[in-house]
Amino acid sequence: MAPKQPIREVGTARPSHLMFTGGIGAIIDLPNIAALVGGLDDWEPQYRDDDREVIEPRLLEATRRRLRKVAQLRLVPLSEEDDRSPNGVPVRPFPAWMRCTRCNRLTSLESKFFTYVNTKRGRPDLARFEHRNCGGRTDAKAVPARFLLACRRGHLDEFPYDWFVHKGGTCPGAQDARLQMLDRAGNRAVNVLIKCDSCKAERNLREAMGERGKEHLPVCRGRHPHLGDYSACGEELRPIIVGASNLWFPQTVSVLSVPPDHDDALAGLVAEHRESLEAVATLSAEQLEPIMRSLPQLKPFAAYEAAELRAALDAHVPGGTAGAESDLYAPEWKAFTAERPDDGRHFTAVRDPGGVPARLKPYFTDVVRAERLREVRAFHGFTRLDAPDPEQPELVPTAPLSRGEPTWVPASEVFGEGIFLRVDAEALKEWERRHESSEAAERLRRAWGRFREKRHSGRLEGGFDPMAGWPGMGYVVLHTLSHLLIRTIALECGYNAASLAERIYSNGDDRAGILVYTAVPDAEGTLGGLVSLAEPARLTRIVRRALMDAEHCSGDPVCADHLPAEPADSLHGAACHSCLFVSETTCERGNRFLDRRYVVGLGDGLSFLPPWT
Ligand SMILES: [Zn+2]
Ligand SMILES: [Zn+2]
Ligand SMILES: [Zn+2]
Ligand SMILES: [Zn+2]
Ligand SMILES: [Zn+2]
Repeated sequence: MAPKQPIREVGTARPSHLMFTGGIGAIIDLPNIAALVGGLDDWEPQYRDDDREVIEPRLLEATRRRLRKVAQLRLVPLSEEDDRSPNGVPVRPFPAWMRCTRCNRLTSLESKFFTYVNTKRGRPDLARFEHRNCGGRTDAKAVPARFLLACRRGHLDEFPYDWFVHKGGTCPGAQDARLQMLDRAGNRAVNVLIKCDSCKAERNLREAMGERGKEHLPVCRGRHPHLGDYSACGEELRPIIVGASNLWFPQTVSVLSVPPDHDDALAGLVAEHRESLEAVATLSAEQLEPIMRSLPQLKPFAAYEAAELRAALDAHVPGGTAGAESDLYAPEWKAFTAERPDDGRHFTAVRDPGGVPARLKPYFTDVVRAERLREVRAFHGFTRLDAPDPEQPELVPTAPLSRGEPTWVPASEVFGEGIFLRVDAEALKEWERRHESSEAAERLRRAWGRFREKRHSGRLEGGFDPMAGWPGMGYVVLHTLSHLLIRTIALECGYNAASLAERIYSNGDDRAGILVYTAVPDAEGTLGGLVSLAEPARLTRIVRRALMDAEHCSGDPVCADHLPAEPADSLHGAACHSCLFVSETTCERGNRFLDRRYVVGLGDGLSFLPPWT
């Protein structure tokens, strides 16, 4: 019998995992069951008195640009038995269609044909469904039938086996047709036969695949299984297999918790209270002065002078920050580059009194140790079939997280420490100007256009701009440098490279810097020691080794000669697993926009940095 309650526990899955590899709407592959993570409506009852709120105003504001009503960011609920365990995220078996591994009987859990077995609480990996007395003899394990249907608007549905084998009709032989699934797949294409024992109809799932398969499938009925609801849709459906990488793409935003800059904080307040400020919006500073402390709607501005408020009102553009994603980095940039960095509850940044070590002066204009950092990440939606397009978010429809408009979203927090390195932005801009029409730069630019076009299949509509989000060549320099440092730190200091993260501050103008930091999920405190690498002698040694190592790669000469080329859409030049790539969780751009030739001389005179001598 199918469980009445959703299976509540998902074993040792951690909050970060739940958000990024298996959040709302994703299918978690347990050994014997496939489980779908439910929407916010299912999460709600899992929270107790402590609602697990994370306070991070900048992130909240960024989330609100997408989901207007969100008023709260919450960590995943804690399990009832154990306060330290992040369990308790609601999941349900999906797909519900399963196949007996012994007799191949194919049926939905709704039929109650299979029996749910879960002997050990807290061990969902042992939970399974069985065909009791299969063939009158033995209990046999059932496994999920792995085919599903998805549409580009994020709907997901069971594969309609019954409908399909009966060619869009119902079984002439029986009301409850007895189906079988015979999986004959070798390594090659799909070869799965669906048979109806009741009327002897049979059909291969191959017929549902590819261009021609579309004619043999129903249109989308707008199912969101994580919400348990249906809505009008009518889009084309495509078969998709549990475990396919395009079944679920999370959409998240992250910020570092930096202390708000005085002016930024005021601008944020003005944006937040814009409606109640309308009544005073035309008053001069002199007129505001006498009412600053008395008018109720000016209460939030008690810490500011009338003239400051007037200036902020003048500077405020309604909806002005909407969509300006890169500006999320602006306060962080300000915090790291401030002459005397402010301490915050989750932020401490310190400069060595000696300044930049002498040997590093040709490379960096500033070195800052971030002794305490917190990164908070919010999850605000997901897409299916097509990856979300951060450059043009309207192109790929986002699936909803709850049945109504969400008032909160799940978030995770990570504590750590880091090293911030600033690069001469003027020099970088000048270098970029000189080299932007070089062959290498041209080829990367064209590859970016191809890459975006390829990802944007005919399923998408609207004014697609292939060059949207082009990060600029300066980004490639900073990004490559960041990877070199991450790899060297891992080698020299025994860090697991996957526990490091990067943020590239680059706007093609006055912002040029990198932050390498530890990102240890679910752990208060740090691994200790990353900031000690910013100590002059150690940092000098690390940079030296990083740059020396970058001159050669075991993949040379192939690696050194590599440039993006048609028809491939690889977005790197001289870069490979042996010299530059890092783990997916570490890199902010999926190992794209990397090229050693811009950081060390590879004989073509394109390097931004001078050689180490
Ligand atoms: Zn069986
Ligand atoms: Zn039949
Ligand atoms: Zn649909
Ligand atoms: Zn290489
Ligand atoms: Zn990277």
